[in-house]
Amino acid sequence: MRILITGAAGFLGSHLSDRLLADGHEVLGMDNFVTGSPDNIAHLAGNENFSFYKRDVSNYIFVPGKIDAIMHFASPASPNPLSKSGYFNLPIQTMKAGALGTHNCLGIARAHNAKFLLASTSEIYGDPDVHPQPETYAGNVDPVGTRAVYDEAKRFAESLTMAYHRFHNVNTSIVRIFNTYGPRMDMEDGRALPNLLKQALLGQPLTVYGDGEQTRSFCYVDDLVDGIIKLLYSEEHFPVNIGNPVEMTVLQFAEAINRITENKAGITYVDARSPRDPQRRRPDITRAHDILNWEPKVDIEEGIRRTIPFFKQKLGLA
Ligand code: UDP
Repeated sequence: MRILITGAAGFLGSHLSDRLLADGHEVLGMDNFVTGSPDNIAHLAGNENFSFYKRDVSNYIFVPGKIDAIMHFASPASPNPLSKSGYFNLPIQTMKAGALGTHNCLGIARAHNAKFLLASTSEIYGDPDVHPQPETYAGNVDPVGTRAVYDEAKRFAESLTMAYHRFHNVNTSIVRIFNTYGPRMDMEDGRALPNLLKQALLGQPLTVYGDGEQTRSFCYVDDLVDGIIKLLYSEEHFPVNIGNPVEMTVLQFAEAINRITENKAGITYVDARSPRDPQRRRPDITRAHDILNWEPKVDIEEGIRRTIPFFKQKLGLA
């Protein structure tokens, strides 16, 4: 297939590009480098099956030739208000990438009779009052809440995707991505894994926000990519959660990082992130299992070990 990936220079987009190229597809990568990095795709320069377009997907986009599939992964995604690349500091771009960007991609999918896959998010569940979260749960969100620029953009994107499927018969799929980690995460984007692993490798105490009792379920990137590729090939049109259902507190996550890196500097508790974090998050992956025959394989120890070399190299420690 000839596949257009928006956000190709991002953490997930670049891993997807690698996997699709390895599977023998042609990849057209698109990114405007607002949060993505040329470093993430530098190794693809010279690959005759990879071409790159520096574009903002929220403007009208055009790529030459026939497209068989479009995967829309362009968006800021970090919720950390302290991070320049987080969506708090890119609120309008975030809403445009989710709304106008999705519209533009769906337009291309319709014109080319191509498959469209939307990268959605567990954030559409908000601060969930159903646990774990199945796809049928409609979420606990606030359209004017402080995380709304991201979660409402993705909710709109899901609605628009279903509208194109129902009204224009476009072959669409929607993946709801839960916390994912691995090499090529932006070390400065303020999320849990980059912050904590960087601190651990530098021998510093790990900053746990609040009491650290809030939970997350962390999925290694290769597992996530596997699930997304299976969804791409499927005919499933309703959203599918892809994530690792092994739930842990943020404190346990930090302790695991300290143990694996042999960091002796311990933990430091800092003020809870303001505005308030979702308190619990864990995917119900029954649908992914039943429809795609997918489940994650990499446990947290192994995933952190596989991530360390990238961070060491970025920190000049390798
Ligand atoms: N977190 C933390 N210390 C950090 C960064 C994050 O304790 O240095 C916590 C954060 O408060 C949240 C969890 O880790 O409860 C996951 O945060 P992340 O930014 O990775 O993404 P989220 O799951 O909130 O979208």
